[in-house]
Amino acid sequence: MASRPTVIIRHCPEYDVHRIEGLVADALDAMSLRPYGRTLLKPNVVASGPHFPHAYTRPEFVEGVLRALRSRARPDLQELAVGERCGITVPTRFTFGEAGYYPMIARVPGTKIYHFEEVPQVEIPLYHPERLRDSFFTPEPVAKADFFVNCPKFKAHPWTTVTFSMKNYIGIQDDRHRLLDHDHKLDEKVADLQYIIQPQFIAIDGIIAGEGRMLTPIPFDLKLVVMGNNQLAFDAVCCHIIGLDPLSVPHLRLAHERGFGPVDPSQIDIRGDISLEDAKKRAHGFRTGLIRVEEYFSGTNVRAYGGRPPSDTVDYCWGGCPGAIEEAIEILRAFDRRTDERMPPIHVVFGKYDGPIDAKPGEKVVFVGDCAEFDGDIAGKHVHVESRYIDRSKRSQYAPKAEDIFVKMAKVEVEFAKKRAEQVVRLGGCPVSVAEQVLALVKLGKLKNPFFDPQQQKPYLNAYFKRRTRDAIERLRGNPYQINGATHRGDARPTQNLPPPGVEAPLELRR
Ligand code: SF4
Repeated sequence: MASRPTVIIRHCPEYDVHRIEGLVADALDAMSLRPYGRTLLKPNVVASGPHFPHAYTRPEFVEGVLRALRSRARPDLQELAVGERCGITVPTRFTFGEAGYYPMIARVPGTKIYHFEEVPQVEIPLYHPERLRDSFFTPEPVAKADFFVNCPKFKAHPWTTVTFSMKNYIGIQDDRHRLLDHDHKLDEKVADLQYIIQPQFIAIDGIIAGEGRMLTPIPFDLKLVVMGNNQLAFDAVCCHIIGLDPLSVPHLRLAHERGFGPVDPSQIDIRGDISLEDAKKRAHGFRTGLIRVEEYFSGTNVRAYGGRPPSDTVDYCWGGCPGAIEEAIEILRAFDRRTDERMPPIHVVFGKYDGPIDAKPGEKVVFVGDCAEFDGDIAGKHVHVESRYIDRSKRSQYAPKAEDIFVKMAKVEVEFAKKRAEQVVRLGGCPVSVAEQVLALVKLGKLKNPFFDPQQQKPYLNAYFKRRTRDAIERLRGNPYQINGATHRGDARPTQNLPPPGVEAPLELRR
């Protein structure tokens, strides 16, 4: 019988590379893990820089983990690499640069770096009966990894309650594929992503955790490094630390129902110099992020109306547009503390909404997302907004769409220019991304556009043009795997975690 999954909780008061290296090396020894072949580390660098200081896995943490991996590697280690796709529209080169990753990588000689949106994307078939799609695309280095290391940041999340290890997988897809099913099915998508690969080792940066939000979290002095060898058991222990029932987090519950591991502490070998009870005391009061949009904007000039998404099972789109506007307003607040003061009264409507919209003449009403639907009076006039939602079964993973930030800017500009004199504006998309909602709020409130922040413009444009150059080179090379902007598998082998068609893999094979 397979042994119980192990989770190790260690005290770590500061970002000291050598201390982190020691903690990780001890954990690898305790779990008899030795990196080999292609070893790939996936951090969470969703956003970085002076406005997002607690959003990402700190470079000191990654450096400590890389050093430990190198020191414990088997002789047949072929490659040690770090790879990530940061938040959509922003080049990963930019977030890596702002996070200080390049000098850090240089301090661990021989480490390779992958910007996941710049490498071939590989098709991985899915076989489990509950799957949203028959396959996923993932960056080639992920598909080819022999020893996969997940290094998330310990944070709350407005779409999925928390983002620990499993949710960090949203960064193993490029923008085009990431936005597919990033709606009320997001938790199911995160559960499906688990079939691509399972990490042999997980280490979370919980030294300064992030509460309340995901991009601009409030720092929480947790002083913990948690490590483990089973992703679900690991996330479950992180939930227990903050006093949250793991089964109340849908992607964890789904993974548990599908046999990815235990969530009950009695079935997990929990060790370390901090007991689970002591860790819970440290995390007492940690706030998660699941707040409905109406409540989130309560007390501000933004009045939000959360209607029903196109679903028979849920009455709110937790994984899509409403959560994106919560992150959007926090980005604007980070760049300008007077954002709320400057914002005129506006109304934002999501989903199929059939209640009253209390807008006065002249106050803009924005219907956000393809599924927005309304039929009623606004400021004494009859307004009919029809749903443009296209069912996910008709949105193919072989022809995904993603626009870069300048296209998004132009789109928002045109939409608002066309509707300058009108009270009602519509923003299309499923989902309407955080970036687009930032741009829409900038227009509505005549706010500073964070994408034109003078401090960040030069490095941003540098990273943007480097990325575009890479794209152009790949196209000129005629990358044989490129089909509709995505790629087929090429010579990548399926991961060892995949069961043959129609066969449910035992847990041991999935790990
Ligand atoms: S349009 Fe937005 S709110 Fe509607 S289903 Fe898609 S992501 Fe959810």
